[in-house]
Amino acid sequence: MQTIDRESAGSARVAIVGGIHGDEPAGVRIVERLAAELPPLDPSDGGGIDGGTGSEGLVRLILANEPAIEAETRYTDADLNRSFPGDADSEEYERALAPRLAAALEGFDAVLALHTSHSAPPPFAIFSDLTASVRRTVTGLPVDHVVDASGLRSTTLDSTIPHTVSIEVGRQGSEEAVEFGYEACLAFLRVHGALADEPPTFSETTVVKGSEEVPKGGGEPHVHFANFEAIPAGAVFAEDDVYTHRVEESGVVPILASENGYDDIFGMYGRVTGVLKPPGEGDLRVYSRDERRGADESGETGENSADRSERAE
Ligand SMILES: [Zn+2]
Repeated sequence: MQTIDRESAGSARVAIVGGIHGDEPAGVRIVERLAAELPPLDPSDGGGIDGGTGSEGLVRLILANEPAIEAETRYTDADLNRSFPGDADSEEYERALAPRLAAALEGFDAVLALHTSHSAPPPFAIFSDLTASVRRTVTGLPVDHVVDASGLRSTTLDSTIPHTVSIEVGRQGSEEAVEFGYEACLAFLRVHGALADEPPTFSETTVVKGSEEVPKGGGEPHVHFANFEAIPAGAVFAEDDVYTHRVEESGVVPILASENGYDDIFGMYGRVTGVLKPPGEGDLRVYSRDERRGADESGETGENSADRSERAE
């Protein structure tokens, strides 16, 4: 793990983490670019690695999984983003790395974790625990959608480190992902006062609650809907030789939809639960679509299983 501390324009302690997955070069390049551009710490002001008085702001840039980055592989022993809280005594590299990374992020006011995927754009954010800091980050990022991953997994960075938002910045290996992710980091630094080059901007963000993974069987995969595109009731989201995933109810959207990106899933089903409002506009909660539109729609039935998956023999 490499930790690079830089001067903040404000009082918040914020961190940006790249290289959680070693085969996602965008996060590494973004962190390196920020390290080159942000001013170094002023040793006389008492901030910095040991905290000093604790009153000074700090921008901490982290390259998390250096052996995996070096090997250009997602992980060496175990997926770091499925290894929290981890175990310092583990012989698996990432399980031992997880508590070290957690310690480097302890007491921070806001954390942004950078990822790319095999799924098509648009980029989106992910949170597990909605705090005031998370709301500020999400509504300040240049994304239209955020996935509420609470209740999905408890072993990810954003489900274990307070005030963490993950962001999927684009397609793995693409230049667009680097450019978009860099701009997203600048927005993140601005909304937390760490960068004063221009005023922060906020916007309402649509919240999609992740509900279940959509399994993949084998044979030629076909995915018929893009991320966050509404799947009409009765339509087939994805199919292969084993599965036909027909969605029975309206209100279902795909998350991380991909034909060839993952060995065992086509992506996930999600449901739009409402919107997050910018800081200063309403309470710290998700406002439902009914509230926003005036309760003129019947809404969803809220069943757990969004589809009827037919399994061929
Ligand atoms: Zn990743």
